[in-house]
Amino acid sequence: MNTSTTSWQQLLAEGFTDIESLCQHLQLEPNQLPLLVGFKDFPLRVPRGFVDCMEKGNPNDPLLRQILPIQDELVNYLGYNADPVGDLNAVAAAGVIHKYQGRVLLIATGACAVHCRYCFRRNFPYGEQQLSSQKLQQAISYIAEHSDISEVILSGGDPLLLNDDKLGFLLQQLAAIKHVQRIRLHSRVPIVLPARITDSLLTHLSNSNQQIVMVLHSNHGNELSPSVAAACLKIRQRGITLLNQSVLLKAVNDDAQTLCQLSEKLFSLGVLPYYLHLLDHASGTGHFAVDDDTAKQLLEQMQRQLPGYLVPKLVREQAGAAYKLPIN
Ligand SMILES: *Cc1c(COP(=O)(O)O)cnc(C)c1O
Ligand code: SF4
Repeated sequence: MNTSTTSWQQLLAEGFTDIESLCQHLQLEPNQLPLLVGFKDFPLRVPRGFVDCMEKGNPNDPLLRQILPIQDELVNYLGYNADPVGDLNAVAAAGVIHKYQGRVLLIATGACAVHCRYCFRRNFPYGEQQLSSQKLQQAISYIAEHSDISEVILSGGDPLLLNDDKLGFLLQQLAAIKHVQRIRLHSRVPIVLPARITDSLLTHLSNSNQQIVMVLHSNHGNELSPSVAAACLKIRQRGITLLNQSVLLKAVNDDAQTLCQLSEKLFSLGVLPYYLHLLDHASGTGHFAVDDDTAKQLLEQMQRQLPGYLVPKLVREQAGAAYKLPIN
């Protein structure tokens, strides 16, 4: 194991998992917030580097709001459920979600470096879907047998939490399937744990003869620290296309200025805005919802202020639809 590998794994292990320690670190009075303590199903998890981007003493910090368990999560909103986007119906083989033509999504691991409170997979039965070594062969066979699959999306959880050996092995297996032209990684790790972007990882990725696309997940310009910028630069230097997807979240990024700044900052790091998702209606996330009219108005303001290539597509994922539905 090389030292850089040790260091990202150590950083991951040193993240906050205890609400009181996090509040203390951020100089917050626990009684300033309606904290949700002792919630075991989807506990607090956040790397220190991401916490360093938060403002101390601000209970409404937009990054804090994304990761802090609060009592609002216990409210049952009408129409919210455990599998709002119909992923369970689209499981084609172990760990393979085949929903859209030509593309499959592979749940490479159920683990994430950060637990985002708004996540639509927060209630997802990862244990059954994650790719154990025995099941990997079934997943690979499925992809190999379907010659119309030209793109494999490594997702999760977060695929960059696989260690280099596992990820390298997976990429090697996929490289042997000739009809797969592109490998896409959906990851929040370069944002919340940029130390994971090691030379060794990048060598595994750039050794592939398939094109590599990485879709980051950042929701706010404050997340894009100098370490994140350095990680993006290293990724781009290997010829990997970088895109970003965000989720539109109430009291996090639901104003035009924040969204425009995010787009501009992403582009300064060589990242193009791809999607702005409306919240998926997963149980426990209703307090993050932004209504359609507000979302459309925000998009309209972005279109006024930004060049077209910096305006993400505003989309909603709908169970059973053939693609992510554009709003407008
Ligand atoms: C979002 C998603 C994709 C990729 O869709 P694009 O529009 O190509 O980005 C593929 N499969 C699943 C299950 C998805 O949720
Ligand atoms: S990193 Fe992605 S998959 Fe993991 S909790 Fe956050 S949004 Fe969900």
